[in-house]
Parts: sequence; structure tokens; C-alpha cells
Amino acid sequence: NRQVILKRYVNGCPTVDDMEVVAGAVRLAVPPGSAAVLVKNLYLSCDPYMRTRMTRHSETSNFVPDYVPGKQVLDNCSVCKVVLSGHPDFKPGDLLWGVTGWEEYSLIPNPVFCHRINHQEFPLSYYTGVLGVPGLTAYAGLFEVAKAKKGESVFVSAAAGAVGQIVGQLAKLTGCYVVGSAGSDQKVNLLKTKFGFDDAFNYKKELDLNAALKRCLPHGIDVYFENVGGAMLDAVLRNMRHRGRIAVCGQVSQYNLERPDGVDLFQLVGKHIRMEGFLVSEYAGDYSRFEEEMARYLKEGKVVCVEDVAEGIEAAPAALVGLFAGRNVGKQVVAVARE
Ligand code: NDP
Repeated sequence: NRQVILKRYVNGCPTVDDMEVVAGAVRLAVPPGSAAVLVKNLYLSCDPYMRTRMTRHSETSNFVPDYVPGKQVLDNCSVCKVVLSGHPDFKPGDLLWGVTGWEEYSLIPNPVFCHRINHQEFPLSYYTGVLGVPGLTAYAGLFEVAKAKKGESVFVSAAAGAVGQIVGQLAKLTGCYVVGSAGSDQKVNLLKTKFGFDDAFNYKKELDLNAALKRCLPHGIDVYFENVGGAMLDAVLRNMRHRGRIAVCGQVSQYNLERPDGVDLFQLVGKHIRMEGFLVSEYAGDYSRFEEEMARYLKEGKVVCVEDVAEGIEAAPAALVGLFAGRNVGKQVVAVARE
């Protein structure tokens, strides 16, 4: 049972050497009388927040527990297949998505965070992306938190990523004017041609982010879907419209910094901007509604998605590290096994 563990706490940018693929033991059994399930992992999801779990935090300063170097297998959302089950709701062969280890087989003592895969007509890996946590994050952040409405101008950063690409397409379906930023010309091209953004720019090539936003959104921004933080957030704040809303989904540019960059939050005051952080877990109750709506959009071709699939568990550390260099084009997933 090959497993990915953290070798040591990470300072700065994570590297492949911070992790190790080790040979662990697996017993192909569930403890008698328990409600555990033993699963075979098919697709592992790579998510930027995993980096925040690689630094030692005080008990209250992170919303999920840190990974313990040296022994604990990394965990995150995956797509998996039940091999053995002591749980009345699951049987061998069932396809699930939920929290498992970064390993070939996982024993899940209490599968409360496991959900059945209802739409097997799509690639199973979609349940790490468009039909999983990133999709629900985009949906909840755009509609429940930012309350985007028809006719509004929406700006999304890290727009070609797992969450960003869905935010942009859902905003377009709502009748918004949608602009995105991304870190390469290839990604900017994807935004405009594949995902139907009205405009997009490569933030790495812009000398002045404020000017880039003014060029693409001359009337300002009603809704900002915040994925990156730092200089981009600062520039966005200057371009927000009166009573604009910012859904703070994540701040990937800050995760490798010891101290966050300063941002002029005083802008919120004068313009009555509502800036609200959120965690997708608060919206777990909306998942079924979201899943059916998104499955319909996918079937009708109204939403498309781009994935970046790394092959084999050995490729998992590099895939995760690549998120912080923008190497992923679309949702980064690791295919551990196909069935
Ligand atoms: P992505 O697929 O977007 O991958 C991360 C991307 O971030 C990279 O491809 C890169 O794109 C960009 N990036 C990396 N470093 C920087 C940097 N220093 N400055 C600017 N951009 C950078 O990841 P996700 O879609 O999974 O996640 C997007 C955001 O959503 C993250 O902040 C994440 O933490 C957050 N999130 C929050 C959730 C919640 O519950 N609140 C749930 C899920 C995700 P590029 O080439 O464009 O630079």
C-alpha cells in the first residue's frame, strides 16, 4: 500500500522533498462488528489548502488539523471504490467520493464524509472537481456568499483553476459580465475560448494590476471571487463598485508566506463593500441540489471542465507542489488506479 507522508513541516514553497512515498501495510479486512469501509483510491484531489496543513499551527489558527510529519498519511477528498464494508449503506463495488488517505487503499473507520457517486455517466475524476468540492465552492461562493445577479460585473482570480473555471461559467450562465486573471497566455486563451469569459488577462505580464482591471472592467467590479489575495486583492479593492461583494474563497498567493502581504482594507469602509470569508463545508446541505444542477449543465454542454491528470501515486507530491507554480492547467488530479 504505497502512501504519501509529510517528511517535515514546510517553510516557504513546498517541494517534492517535503513529502515521501512509502510502502505501508494494508490488511484487506474491516474490523469485525465495525461500520468501517476499506476502499481502493482511484483519484486523489490536489488542493492548495493542503499546503496550510503542512505548517505547524496553534490549535485554533487553522480550520483543519495539521498533517503530522513522519507518520500520518496525507488526506484529502478522493474518488474511491469500496472493497469491503461493515457499513449498512455501502457495499463492495460502490463508487464513492469523500475524505481518504493519499494511498492506494484506505480503511475508513467511520465513513461520514463519504458520498455515493450518482452520475457515473461522467468521468469519475469530475467528483474531485466540477461535481465535487471545487464545484460546490464555486456555486456557494458565487450565489450564496456574493449573491451575483444578472447584469453585474464579476471578476475571478486563479480563473483557469478548478474553482475559478466553474465560477466564470456559472456567472456567465447567470448573465453577468465576466473577467478572469490567470498566470499564463495559454490559460488566458482557455478562459476566453473554452470557458466563455468576456475578457481575461495574464497577471504575470501586467506591470500594473490596477490598470489591467480598469482596462477590462472600466465600470468597476460588483462581485470579486477572491482566490489569490495579496497585490491582486489590493488592486481589486480600488476597482470595486459601491456595495460590491467579495467572496473570500482562498488566498493562494499567501499560503507560502510567513507573514501575509499588507492590503488596504480601509477601502471597504468608504465604499460599503461586504467582504465575507466562507468554507464550503457550511454549504454541504446544498450538495444534492448543486449536483443535479451541475450534472444537467454538463449534459447540456453549458458547463465544460478542464482537468490536469497526473499518473500514479508517485506523481502526487509533484502535482501538489505544481499548484504553487501554476503548473496545473485546470483541476489537478492524480490517477492512482482506473478501476
Ligand atoms: P487551482 O486549480 O486554481 O490551482 C491553484 C492556482 O493558483 C494555480 O494553478 C495558479 O494559477 C494559482 N497560483 C498559485 N500561486 C499563486 C500566486 N502566488 N499568486 C497568484 N496565483 C497563484 O486551485 P483551486 O481551484 O482548487 O483553489 C482556488 C482557491 O480556492 C484557493 O485559494 C483555494 O485555497 C480556495 N478554496 C477554498 C475553499 C473554501 O472552502 N473556501 C474550497 C476549495 C478551494 P495561475 O497560473 O493562474 O497563477
